[in-house]
Amino acid sequence: MNIRRIAFAIILIVLSSAVTFGWYRYVAHPVPVACRYCARPLHSNLMVTAEIGGKRAEACCARCAISEANQEHKPLRLITVHDYRSGHAISPAGAWFVEGGSAVSCDHDAMPMNEMKGTDAMAFDRCTPSTFAFAERKDADAFADRNGGSVLSFAQLMSEARYQ
Ligand SMILES: [Zn+2]
Repeated sequence: MNIRRIAFAIILIVLSSAVTFGWYRYVAHPVPVACRYCARPLHSNLMVTAEIGGKRAEACCARCAISEANQEHKPLRLITVHDYRSGHAISPAGAWFVEGGSAVSCDHDAMPMNEMKGTDAMAFDRCTPSTFAFAERKDADAFADRNGGSVLSFAQLMSEARYQ
């Protein structure tokens, strides 16, 4: 009698926590909100979907994914990037990338983050040099005119991933 009540209570607790978890995971946050590699917030016009060593995840920016792949000595595939101007998801193969320059893409909270994912005042930041993706070459050129930096093709950007 008592055991049945305890068992029932346990089942109830397990069920309700499963429902709570499911709601939180799939309803409250249907898309990831933080970069898989550095835990910085994802921004809709900067985030990328990357596959590093065959594992797919969302990253805060293309630069962070390249840093991660190089640190892990693994090959990188960029699956989706976002047009910085419109926030639309685009295929990286046809995109143009502005690298360097004075604009900072991953400076979400002005907190430098080193290669060990700690914070300190070192010059290295895993999201630097900042990389912005554009669907149109003319938008990339205009952005580079305003902020400096150089315009790269997808192939040029990917040549920075060292373990392909
Ligand atoms: Zn990141």
